[in-house]
Amino acid sequence: MPDTGRVALFHGPAKPFEIREMPVPDPEPGATLIKVSMANICGSDLHAWHGRFVLAGLGGVLPTVLGHEMTGVVTALGQGLTRDADGLPLAEGDRVTFTYFTGCGQCYGCLRGKRTSCSNLSMPMTQSAEAWPHFVGAYGDYFYVRPNAAIYKVPEGVPDEVVAGANCALSQVIAGFERCALRFDEAVVIQGAGGLGLYATAVAKAFGARMVVAVDAVADRLEMASRFGADATININELPDPKARAKQIKQLTDGRGADVVMEVVGDAAVVPEGIRMLAQHGRYVGIGCINAGQTYEADPSRLVMANKSFIGVALYEPDVLGKALRFLSRYREQLPLDELVSRKFPLTEIDDAFRKADQREVLRASLVPH
Ligand SMILES: [Zn+2]
Ligand SMILES: [Zn+2]
Repeated sequence: MPDTGRVALFHGPAKPFEIREMPVPDPEPGATLIKVSMANICGSDLHAWHGRFVLAGLGGVLPTVLGHEMTGVVTALGQGLTRDADGLPLAEGDRVTFTYFTGCGQCYGCLRGKRTSCSNLSMPMTQSAEAWPHFVGAYGDYFYVRPNAAIYKVPEGVPDEVVAGANCALSQVIAGFERCALRFDEAVVIQGAGGLGLYATAVAKAFGARMVVAVDAVADRLEMASRFGADATININELPDPKARAKQIKQLTDGRGADVVMEVVGDAAVVPEGIRMLAQHGRYVGIGCINAGQTYEADPSRLVMANKSFIGVALYEPDVLGKALRFLSRYREQLPLDELVSRKFPLTEIDDAFRKADQREVLRASLVPH
């Protein structure tokens, strides 16, 4: 193991990243040092880069290292860590995926089985990279996985391009459908056909949805959504009136509307439209709007009188990552999952990668440090 490795330091919005060598940490008991194989740029990384997602609000300290959606190889195992979350033997050299956030397992939230509400949650983007263990985000040669994280070996035959999105985007949408209790034969609308939206489309079909409609403004993404199983797509540019779009959803669902609408756009402006698209007893699942300060106009009677609900979903319970891996194993022949990572960049080109991801020139940009 080399003495040092690179990280791309994030000094704040609108500032270029700085590549710096940092001392490589020896893992403490229960921790793991990962050599990063592939680290995607997720919507929340872009929000942080723009300053729309204020890291200080999470107790964050700069400079930090962004990036959390990743896969890598075990480089060093802390004492006592011998098996993965499925009980399989874990060794140096194993390809793995892991929850990027870690609950303490001992607080009120964790003890109630809700690690997403852990009061001592540790996660990337929030820790200073100046302090040990330095490798606190995915955009570097290494990533330090704290004790108590759920680590899974990557199933054989699942390449980095396919597994890289498992620990954020894919797990997040599975968690969303579990939270709203999506059932067989229901109708689903996905607002946004980026990385999360494409996973959501495929996962909704896997849950047994009879009708999945993807809504986006980019024709290429909608074409991809069809390949991920969407039964219909709506291009916002072709149907610019939100009321007309809601009407189209009604027509596609025998006049009833969608049982579930999932928002993975990250723009509060789409929320009223999504609520309008819901059928009676419909559930609106909000995932993308993580930025404080965004608002939308709401008439509560639209929820109350139709028994509709709004379910906010942030993070996921660790076992969901195991389900995500099994999903990838099961569907990798049927779905173009490897096309989700549409462009790879070396770590030194991180500024360019962020610009291209931001301008939606690429579906999911990935940094490949090695
Ligand atoms: Zn993410
Ligand atoms: Zn806890």
